[in-house]
Amino acid sequence: MLALMPFFYWLHATFAIFTIELTVLTVIFAFIFQDFLYYWFHRASHQCNWLWAAHVVHHSSTNMNFSTAMRQSLFYPIVGMWVFWLPLIILGYTPQLVLAIVALNLAFQFFVHTELGPEFRVLGKVFNTPVHHCLHHAKNPQYVDKNYAGVLIIWDKAFGTFVKSNGESPSYGVTDREYAVSFFDVVFTPWRILVSNLQKQKSATAAIKLLFNKPGNLK
Ligand SMILES: [Zn+2]
Ligand SMILES: [Zn+2]
Repeated sequence: MLALMPFFYWLHATFAIFTIELTVLTVIFAFIFQDFLYYWFHRASHQCNWLWAAHVVHHSSTNMNFSTAMRQSLFYPIVGMWVFWLPLIILGYTPQLVLAIVALNLAFQFFVHTELGPEFRVLGKVFNTPVHHCLHHAKNPQYVDKNYAGVLIIWDKAFGTFVKSNGESPSYGVTDREYAVSFFDVVFTPWRILVSNLQKQKSATAAIKLLFNKPGNLK
C-alpha cells in the first residue's frame, strides 16, 4: 500500500468530495466506516478465487494462535485490498489517516487469534473476540464463511453471517486441501493452482468468470 501512496494522494487531491477536519468524531467515523469496508473485503476474499488466492494463506494454519495472525500473503497489494479503502479517500480522508486506521484495525485483529483468554460475553455482543474469530477459522461446515468481522461483530449480525458455537470445537484449516508449512509453498501454491486452471479455460470470458467464482473446486 505504501508504494501506491502517490496514486492515493492524486485521487484525494482530484476526487475528494469533502475537506474533512480531523476531530474525535470524524476519526471515530473513519474507524467505523473502514471496519465496515473491511467486513466486505474479508467477505469478498472468501467468495472469489482471485482474492482467496491471497487470503487462503491466512487460513492455511491448522492451529489458532498469534502466529496465525502473522501468516499473511505477499499478494494483498496486488489482488487489490486497497481498492476497498478508496471510498474513505474519495470521501475526503487523507491517505495517511486511512493508512493509520487500516493499521489500527489490523493491530486489533492480531489479538483475536487465540484460544486463550476470557470469553468477553458482553463486549462480544458488539466487538469481534477470539471466540468469534476462532469459529471464522474453522472448517466445520456450520462455521464456514461466517464471522468476517475485523473489529466490530455488528456487521456479521447485520448482514446474516454471524455464527455462535453450537458446542462443537472448531477444527482449523481449509476444506479443500492441506498446505505444507514451507513459506513458499503456502504463498505460491494457490497462485500456481489458479493459473493452471485459467490456462485450461477456452475463452477470456470463461477465465474472468473463474477469477470471480467461489473458491473450493480448483484442483
Ligand atoms: Zn477469512
Ligand atoms: Zn484470522
